Amino acid sequence: MLKSIYHFITKPFLFETDEEIRKIIGLHIVMLAALVFSIIDLSVAILGRPVYACIPGDITIITIGIIGLYCLRTGKTICTVNSIFLAPFVIYFFHISKQYSVLPIHQSIPNTLWVLIASLIFLVLFDGKLKKISIFFGWALITLLFHIYQADRISDILLYKWPGNDMAFNPVLQLILAYGITFFVTWNFSISINDLRTKLNENEKQVNQTVKGFQQGVLLMEIVRDEMENPVGLKILKTNPAFESMFRVQARELREADAEVIFPKVFRDSFQWNSFYLQSTKKKTEIHVDHLNKWFEVFNLSPAPDQIASIFYDVSQKQKNIESLQDSRRRYKVLLEAIPDIFFIIDKDGIYMDFVIKESELIQITADDIVGNSIFEVGFSEKMSRKIFQCIQDAIQFETIETIEYALEVEKGTAMFEMRIAKLDDNSVISIARDITKRKVAEIKLEEAKIKAEEADQLKSAFLANISHEIRTPMNAIIGFSKMIGSPDFDMEEKNRFIEIIVSNGKLLMEMINDMISLSKIESNQIIVKKDFCKINDMMLDLYREYSYDVSNKPIKLKLSNENANPKFGVTTDKAILMEVMQKLLDNAVKFTDDGEIEFGYKLLSKDQLQFFVRDTGIGIDEAQITKIFERFHQVDNKTTRRYEGTGLGLAIAQHFVKLIEGTIAVKSELGSGSTFYFNVPFKGGEGTLTIVR
Ligand code: ADP
Repeated sequence: MLKSIYHFITKPFLFETDEEIRKIIGLHIVMLAALVFSIIDLSVAILGRPVYACIPGDITIITIGIIGLYCLRTGKTICTVNSIFLAPFVIYFFHISKQYSVLPIHQSIPNTLWVLIASLIFLVLFDGKLKKISIFFGWALITLLFHIYQADRISDILLYKWPGNDMAFNPVLQLILAYGITFFVTWNFSISINDLRTKLNENEKQVNQTVKGFQQGVLLMEIVRDEMENPVGLKILKTNPAFESMFRVQARELREADAEVIFPKVFRDSFQWNSFYLQSTKKKTEIHVDHLNKWFEVFNLSPAPDQIASIFYDVSQKQKNIESLQDSRRRYKVLLEAIPDIFFIIDKDGIYMDFVIKESELIQITADDIVGNSIFEVGFSEKMSRKIFQCIQDAIQFETIETIEYALEVEKGTAMFEMRIAKLDDNSVISIARDITKRKVAEIKLEEAKIKAEEADQLKSAFLANISHEIRTPMNAIIGFSKMIGSPDFDMEEKNRFIEIIVSNGKLLMEMINDMISLSKIESNQIIVKKDFCKINDMMLDLYREYSYDVSNKPIKLKLSNENANPKFGVTTDKAILMEVMQKLLDNAVKFTDDGEIEFGYKLLSKDQLQFFVRDTGIGIDEAQITKIFERFHQVDNKTTRRYEGTGLGLAIAQHFVKLIEGTIAVKSELGSGSTFYFNVPFKGGEGTLTIVR
């Protein structure tokens, strides 16, 4: 109720201070009170006809009240205040007029005086202007003097003491005194008001100058509200030069302008100003003004109720710096990712701070596994961790680049890494780990190959030495004995012996040449395996016949040991290769056995493995040599062996041949007791296995 009265009273006014509100409310009260009082008085006068009725006086008060209230409601406060100048007419009707006054005229001078003084106070309270107060004082003095004159007391006018008991002293003097006091109070009041106003102006000037010189754009606005007090728009009150140059607008275009009209022009579509200022409580936002291609940070302040001050910071440069920083960060990331190494940032206590790792086949690391963990926790051995820790300290202290090589057990086996540690700053290092597994493997292979090449070189030199010796010996024999055949000094019997020697040396030469041809064919992958069904027992018998002759001049017993007597027994394989291998083994057995027994044959190891063997009771092979005899050109180099001819190629060729028919060759031997060479071939496409039936 009170609120709606208040709202009703204050509605037509634009207040700037509380003082003004108080004045308006006071005027309403005074005018209303005068109106109500006079209406009641008039009603009583008309209806009750009392002795003290003064109808013209009441009508005058009603008129003043109506004029005053009308002026108030139309916002003309000054007019309301000025209506007090009609007060003397009220006095006239009530106290001076011989016809209407309610009391005898000479008795009501004090009433006139008090009404006039009350009017003066009214003016002080509601107007406060010295000039108006002084004019009213003159008007009041005339009224009072006229009253005194009408009361026939003009003769008392110069007396200080007023005759009679109704007043303490001269009413004119009292009026002058009242005027003097009101004048003094008002004058004093207006001086202090002026002082305050000057200070206020100075302050405002300072604030204005500060805002004017402010480097950032300032925009002061007022919120426009509808009848229901809802914010509906913004009116621009002020801007500073920085704002105007930032957005290339003129101050005069902006002043008092409606935001609805101006903002689309200033910001185009870049700024949702409506939602930011009127619908949100956000104090800060960032906008990009497209047509200026600039970034702004906007801060909001509320200097007074319903006022918004926005400060615009041009942050384009900052934004550009951030963007170029992000660009360069992106570039470095791409660069780091393109380098196959793994990068770690480790602090001086050995804690991982960051890393860049590529998709690696070897190690899969996630940020959680590594960042925040210590080098002592990520899988290095205790010794290795301590070494890395020491390198970190050295790199920081001496600004050196430390290098460590280490092995790491990964899913696919052992990986080798090379870690370089370099100082980043006083508290951290960058560690660059490179996978050097391939390089290391290549190095090891290279080393092995080098050793092999050196060995091969030695073997070849030995071979050449051998071969020249081996070739020269039979060639010398052949040439020497061929010459001797033509000589008439020898008889037929001797010549026949020479022919035998020439033939056997020719055979040896042939064997050598064959071996060398086989080897070169093996090396150039020219041997073609031709698999066919091969009757093994027939083949063994052929071999037996061939070698029976070879051992005939030595005290050696040759023994054939065929497990399967079925003449149809056989296997699908390359017969020529199989035969060649058996011949090489039998050649050696005959060569390295001086007396005793040579047994050869085969047996079925399982339903798919057939084993051939050649056993002798010859010189045997030293344990240390057993792994080497299959290498090319290798001959056991001892005095005993050198007695025997050969190229050192036989077993190497045999091993290759066995491999070609999908088998494996091995040897068991004891020095001085003999050797057993055996090789297994797959029993594929085999036939003729006997089943024992009891
Ligand atoms: P070579 O032409 O010298 O016989 P091989 O490759 O056939 O070449 O044999 C290599 C070496 O293996 C021989 O020089 C010999 O020292 C040893 N060896 C091979 N077979 C026998 C065997 N049955 N008894 C003893 N030593 C053998």
